[in-house]
Amino acid sequence: MTTIFKKIIDREIPAQIVHEDDQCLAFHDIAPKSPVHILVIPKKEISGVGAIEEEDEALVGHCLYVIRRLAEEQGIAEDGYRVVINQGKNAEQSVAHLHFHLMGGRAFTWPPG
Ligand code: AMP
Repeated sequence: MTTIFKKIIDREIPAQIVHEDDQCLAFHDIAPKSPVHILVIPKKEISGVGAIEEEDEALVGHCLYVIRRLAEEQGIAEDGYRVVINQGKNAEQSVAHLHFHLMGGRAFTWPPG
């Protein structure tokens, strides 16, 4: 099944894209839960953490490197930020395409709900 994120990669539906390279795409979350709320996704269709293969190690690391750069660009690096991946039902993953939430611009509590 084609996910909404695959449609964003293929430009079938619009998104506020803030970064793109050959491996990943980053865009603003449509329903932000913090002043900065960006989703970073690999272009490769991986349904979630539970589907990451050994061959994806460098790709996943690249996504984290992009997150670090985006946090600096967005001005949230100094105060800190949260990077979230929801996997599966108990974590309320709603889109079956691996995505990192980059969230910042406010303080977060721990543990998350
Ligand atoms: P998760 O619940 O971890 O699967 O996160 C999915 C995220 O995708 C949610 O934060 C949604 O607000 C976000 N989202 C869903 N559809 C879109 C869209 N078309 N553009 C941007 N973000 C979206």
